[in-house]
Amino acid sequence: MQGRRPPGPGGRPQAQFDQLEASELYCPKCQRAMPVRKRLLLVLPEGEKYLYHCARCGTVCGDKIDKAPTSSFRVIV
Ligand SMILES: [Zn+2]
Repeated sequence: MQGRRPPGPGGRPQAQFDQLEASELYCPKCQRAMPVRKRLLLVLPEGEKYLYHCARCGTVCGDKIDKAPTSSFRVIV
């Protein structure tokens, strides 16, 4: 019996990202999928708008609105 196993997920060599959701997006300048950085652009009533910048050239590759988890207003359907 060889009981030589890595002791589970102990020290994962993961860098610390701030809520990195979209890890790669297509960059029109680099003309390929690039790692992106998420940056808060502005806060809207319906949520927070983020921009995704290419980690290499800084071009905006996309955007996203995070819905506010705790809405202080009611959505009328
Ligand atoms: Zn780029």
